Amino acid sequence: MPKSKFQQKLIVFTAPSGAGKTTIVRYLLNTYDFLGFSISATNRKMRDGETDGKDYYFLSTEDFKEKIHAQEFIEWEEVYKDQYYGTLKSEIERLWDLEKTIVFDMEVNGASVIKEKYGDQVHVVFVKPPSLEVLVERLKNRKTESEASLRKRIKRVKRELSFENSFDYVLVNDVLDTTLKEAEIITESFIFGKLIE
Ligand code: 5GP
Repeated sequence: MPKSKFQQKLIVFTAPSGAGKTTIVRYLLNTYDFLGFSISATNRKMRDGETDGKDYYFLSTEDFKEKIHAQEFIEWEEVYKDQYYGTLKSEIERLWDLEKTIVFDMEVNGASVIKEKYGDQVHVVFVKPPSLEVLVERLKNRKTESEASLRKRIKRVKRELSFENSFDYVLVNDVLDTTLKEAEIITESFIFGKLIE
């Protein structure tokens, strides 16, 4: 007998790096108590301002590979050469135990795997930058990346943009305020069944 009417749902925000999905996800998490962020594991270096166990579970490469071997991930991806990211099965259980709707920030391959595994339980939103040029500018302005890392990211972007039509909704991130309002509507309509006008 289920202890409540809680429905196990997931919302994935996916996009090329720099399209603004992290800003959208943070905004929604601040707006809705019923959402919980899926903290991914990664072996990449922690950036200034990031916290272990909040932004990511920062693991050594060895630990990450051990977890792959032990099948502890729902999905994982070598997003850039030698940089691994993945969703731990234990993370999904942790958030559903708290009766949260799980929000993900992940690249397109991971989003496809989650869609395949969870079907109608998941809503995948593809966040699209207004143009490739704007995206490259945003990545450069971020200033968290070295030149080499920036090049790797830009190379990947073009392939990622081709995924636009594979998901449930395309959210164009042009004017941020408008995007955030639209993200609210998408979230509420998926969770409460409200119609998008
Ligand atoms: P960043 O290094 O900028 O934090 O993340 C790089 C990319 O990895 C972003 O597109 C981010 O959304 C993606 N990413 C973060 N966590 C995961 C995850 O658990 N699985 C997958 N497949 N991608 C992830």
